[in-house]
Amino acid sequence: MTGLVHARIEGALVMIGFGSIGRGTLPLIMRHIGFDRAQFTVIEPTDDYAHILRDHGIRHLQVALTADNYADILRSLLPHGRGMIVNLSVDVDSVELMKLAQELGVQYLDTVVEPWPGFYFGSTLPNADRTNYPLRERVRELGKSYLGGPTAVSCCGANPGMVSWLLKEALLRLAADTGVEAEPKSREDWATLMQSLGVKGIHVAERDTQVSAHAKPVGVFVNTWSVDGLLSEGYQPAELGWGTHEKKLPPNGHAFDHGPGYAIWIDRPGADTRVRSWCPDVGQQFGYLVTHNESLSVPDYYTVWQDGKAIYRPTCHYAYHPCNDAVLSLHEMNGAGKRQPDQHILTAEDITAGGDDLGVFLYGHAKGAMWYGSRLSCEEARRLAPYQNATGMQVTSAVLAAMVWAAENPHEGFVEADEMDHVRCLEVQRPYLGRIECHYTDWTPLQNRINRFAEDRDEADPWQFTNFLAL
Ligand code: NAD
Repeated sequence: MTGLVHARIEGALVMIGFGSIGRGTLPLIMRHIGFDRAQFTVIEPTDDYAHILRDHGIRHLQVALTADNYADILRSLLPHGRGMIVNLSVDVDSVELMKLAQELGVQYLDTVVEPWPGFYFGSTLPNADRTNYPLRERVRELGKSYLGGPTAVSCCGANPGMVSWLLKEALLRLAADTGVEAEPKSREDWATLMQSLGVKGIHVAERDTQVSAHAKPVGVFVNTWSVDGLLSEGYQPAELGWGTHEKKLPPNGHAFDHGPGYAIWIDRPGADTRVRSWCPDVGQQFGYLVTHNESLSVPDYYTVWQDGKAIYRPTCHYAYHPCNDAVLSLHEMNGAGKRQPDQHILTAEDITAGGDDLGVFLYGHAKGAMWYGSRLSCEEARRLAPYQNATGMQVTSAVLAAMVWAAENPHEGFVEADEMDHVRCLEVQRPYLGRIECHYTDWTPLQNRINRFAEDRDEADPWQFTNFLAL
């Protein structure tokens, strides 16, 4: 695929991390972003893939950023108040980098909100404080000090990220298909539209079907993207946006005792908490209720307020069926109660078949339920750009779209994907998403059981969270 240059980055471009997402983002940047090669630096502590950087004539700074060195290093790379930092690493504190980017006067982009090491494993914090809610609230609070500052895009990959743009397209499609007039402009308009469509909740419903020719060895955690990233979020408590239609908290469910209260958490790891969900082809399936920023930003964005009271808010959570090897890896890890000694990320070359279906599943409205999302095979991903599988491409193309949007809108302060122009972002991203499909279904989580066992069912309202949760 040849490239249309969508935007130019003036000044320095610094990418942090050259793992599966960093490597996949590189060819998209080279194809679609104008930049000065002499001012492009990739910070990556390992030299595992340094040959790719050498081949492209891009400077590799082989160092791990730490709380002690990050400020000096980034100041030296971005001395002129112009440029962009794209953080695609693990173990580097997003909030500290966002603050520094404001000080330096440069744009910033991240796909998650991550702290320095020590938060995800071995933490002495109570479980409520190990959720994403306090992390996100911290970012939102800090953002109030930087209104109109250099654009800092928080949490923008595929999910969190692209799924917020797909959600807006899905709402417009649902409105058109049900004869509801819709021309939303503001956050309030979008929230009112979702309310008027009767959407009770949203799953970010994903099915990764990518397989390799080799069976997963015992003692190796295999995934299609960062193993460290998945385990970090997977062993935080399960967490979800909490809709106004919900009647009762799930077992071990807790409301937060501070902030706007758009979410709840469950006192068990997300990577060991299953929900019933739905994806094209497979239909009903289990997904893991892994915490994610979009499970918080979406219910917050789509809350309808009246006299200081939330009168409408959707439930929202991730329902993630990772690739089969990752499901097996989680099973092995949960059984052993400890991490495997080795890990492996399946490359496009390892993968022999399958792809990634990643979309939003809107339920409770006039047409029952709808899945709307990207269906990308690994074969197609391989044809589109090097160094990545289908999962990676849904992420890297969202990073590209966010870079373009940030370059075109350089003074927006702190933003999340829900607050960006979904039309422009999807315009940039769409060539990399395979087929964007819309599927309606009459499925509800009350359907299909293999024999009947005791369970907490709400027959009166199929869309209660208790019906999705599989304990
Ligand atoms: P990866 O594990 O393949 O790569 C991470 C890279 O960061 C590694 O190369 C590692 O050496 C580097 N790194 C580690 N410590 C560092 C430090 N102190 N300083 C600089 N670099 C350091 O991970 P990935 O699959 O490339 O994912 C990268 C990030 O993107 C993760 O945070 C992940 O959670 C996130 N992600 C987000 C989405 C999304 O849709 N929003 C999807 C996938 C991944």
